[in-house]
Amino acid sequence: MAGWMRLVGLLLALVPGLALGAIELDADSVRHPVERELRFVRDDQSALGVEQVLALPASAWRDNVNDVFSRGYNDAAWWLRFDVRRLNVSHDRDLLEIAYPVLDHVEVWVLNRGKVQAHYLMGDKQPFASRPIAHRYFLVPLQMQVQETYTVVLRVRTASSVQVPITVWENRAYVAHDQLRLMGLGLYFGAMLVMVLYNFFVFLIVRERNYFYYVMYVLSIMLFMASLNGVAFQFLWPRATTWNDEAIILTLSGTVLFGMLFTMRFLQLPRYLPWLMPVMRLLIAASVLIMSATFLLTYDVLIRLAVVVGALACLGGLLASAVRWRQGDATARFYTIAWSFMLLGGFVLALNKFQLLPQNLFTENSVLFGSALEVVLLSFALAERINEEKRLRFNAQQSTLEAERKTRHAQAEALDAQRQANERLEQRVQERTEALEEANRRLAELSATDQLTGLRNRRYLDTLLHEEFQRCHRYSRSIALLLLDIDHFKRFNDSYGHMVGDDCLRAVADSLRQAVRTEVDRVARFGGEEFCLVLPETDAEGASVVAERIRAAVQALDFHVDGKPVPVTVSVGVAALVPASADDVQLLLLNTDKALYEAKAAGRNCVRLAS
Ligand code: GH3
Ligand code: MG
Ligand code: MG
Repeated sequence: MAGWMRLVGLLLALVPGLALGAIELDADSVRHPVERELRFVRDDQSALGVEQVLALPASAWRDNVNDVFSRGYNDAAWWLRFDVRRLNVSHDRDLLEIAYPVLDHVEVWVLNRGKVQAHYLMGDKQPFASRPIAHRYFLVPLQMQVQETYTVVLRVRTASSVQVPITVWENRAYVAHDQLRLMGLGLYFGAMLVMVLYNFFVFLIVRERNYFYYVMYVLSIMLFMASLNGVAFQFLWPRATTWNDEAIILTLSGTVLFGMLFTMRFLQLPRYLPWLMPVMRLLIAASVLIMSATFLLTYDVLIRLAVVVGALACLGGLLASAVRWRQGDATARFYTIAWSFMLLGGFVLALNKFQLLPQNLFTENSVLFGSALEVVLLSFALAERINEEKRLRFNAQQSTLEAERKTRHAQAEALDAQRQANERLEQRVQERTEALEEANRRLAELSATDQLTGLRNRRYLDTLLHEEFQRCHRYSRSIALLLLDIDHFKRFNDSYGHMVGDDCLRAVADSLRQAVRTEVDRVARFGGEEFCLVLPETDAEGASVVAERIRAAVQALDFHVDGKPVPVTVSVGVAALVPASADDVQLLLLNTDKALYEAKAAGRNCVRLAS
C-alpha cells in the first residue's frame, strides 16, 4: 500500500506544476511558515476560475522568492498554491493560517488527488460569521491523511496591500501559541483602554485641552491597531464589511490629526518653533481631508495617502520634540523618547518583515509594544507638563500673595501712623484749647479784678448789678446797695504819702472781704477810695445791719504808720428797693450816693439809710 502511494507520489512529481516541492511535515513539524514553497499567478483581469488556474502549465506559475508573499497595492487577483504532506504522524487536524486580517477576499481550495476536498470563501468583505473558524485571522482546517499530498490553492484580491503570510500549524501548538498572542493583545488593548478612560476623566477634571487630544490620539491608535489586527472586525463590527476599510483610514488619519494637535500644543510649537507650524498645519489639513474623503475615494488610494501622511507626521513630531529638547524644554525629553519608541516599533517590524530580525512574539508585535510604551510615556510627559505649569502658577501665586501681604502690611503701618498722628494732633489741640481756655479765664479774671486791692472792679460791678437787678425785678425781690467812702483820705495821702494810702486801701479791702466772707464776689472797688456792696434779696433793714458791721470792722482796723496807730474810718450810704423796672439801677445808685453824702454830712464814720 505504502509502496503504491510512493509510486503515485513519484508519478505526480513528474506532472509539472503539481507535486513539485511538496512541504513534508514530520511529527515535530507543528509550525511551518509557507514561504519559498509558494508559487503564484497574477490574474490582472481577475478573469480566471479555479479550474482554469489549475489547468495552467507549470511554466505559468512563478516561484515566490520573498519570505512572505508580498505584492504591495494593486488591483489584481493573486493565485497562490503549495503542496503539503504529512509524512508519518497524522494529527487530528492541522490548520492553515493567513495572518493578515485586512485582506478583502481570500478564497481557499484544498485538493486531494485532483478533487476539491474543501472550499472556503473568506476575507473582511465577508461577514465574520461566514468564516470556518471564528478567529481574527483567516483560519482553515486542514485534514490530512499520512503520506497523502494535498494541494492548497488560494485566491487573494484586496484593496489593502497584498500580503499573504501563510503558516501550517498543528492544531494544539496553534492553540497554545494563540493564547500567548491573545494575552498580549488583551494586555495591549486593556492598557490602552485604561489610558483612554483615565485620561478622559483627568480631562473632565483638569479641563486641559491637551488631555482631550491625548485621549483622542490613544483612542485612534488603539482602534487603528484593533482594525489592523482583525480584533475590531471580530468583536466590534463583525457584519460591517465595508466599514472595516473605512475604519482603518479614519483611525490612522485620526491618529495623525490628534497626534499633531497634541504635539503642537504639548511642545508649544506656535511659540517656540513657528517655522514648523506650516508643516504641522499641512499634515493636519491632509489628515482631515483624507478623513472626509473616506466615503468618496477608494481604500487603496486613501490608505497610501494616509500612510505617507502618517510617516511624515511621525518624522515631524520627532523633529519638533528633538529641537525642543535641545532648546531646553525638559518635558520634550519624554516626548522624544515616547515618539522614538513608536518609530522603533515600526522599525523592528520592518526588520522582522525583511527577516533581518528573528520572528518572535516581540518582533511581530513591535508596533504594539512601541505604541503602548509611547502612550504610557506621553501620559507621563503630559503629567510632567501639567505639574510644571502648576509649579509656575503656584510660584506666581506665592509672589502675588507675598506682594499682597507686603501691601497690607504697609497699609496697616500707614494707617497706624495716621492714627497716631491724629491722636497727637487731638491731644495737642486739646492742650492748646485748655491753655486758651485757661488764658481766657485768667484774662476774664484780670479784666474783672482791681489791680490794687484784688477786689472786683467797677466794670464787673456794672455787669453784676445789671444781672441782679433783672433777677430781683423778675421775682419782685428787694435788692440793697452799700456805698463806702474812706473818711478824709485826701488828708491821709497828704500826711503819709500815696504809697501808705495804697496800703490803707488794701487793708480796708481785706476787712471788707472778711466782713462779707461768703459773698466776696459782691464786693467791688467802686473807684478811688470808694467801695460798693451788692446785697440781693436784702431789704433796707438787713442792709443797714451789714453796713454797720462793716463800718465797725473798718474802725477796728489796727492800721499803723511808722509804728504809730492811725485811725481809719468809713462812711456808708445804704439804699434798698424792689425794682419796678430794670432801669431802676440808676435810681438805687443815686439814692445810695445821697445816703453816703448824708453820712458825711452827719460827721462821718457812720451809716445812713436812704429815705
Ligand atoms: P471826705 O472825708 O470828705 O471823703 O474827705 P476826702 O479827703 O476823702 O475827700 P475825697 O473823697 O474827695 O478825696 C479822695 C481822695 O482820695 C483823692 C485822692 O487823693 C485820694 N485817692 C483817690 N484814689 C486813690 C488811690 O488809689 N490811692 C491813694 N493813695 N489815694 C487815692
Ligand atoms: Mg471820695
Ligand atoms: Mg473820702
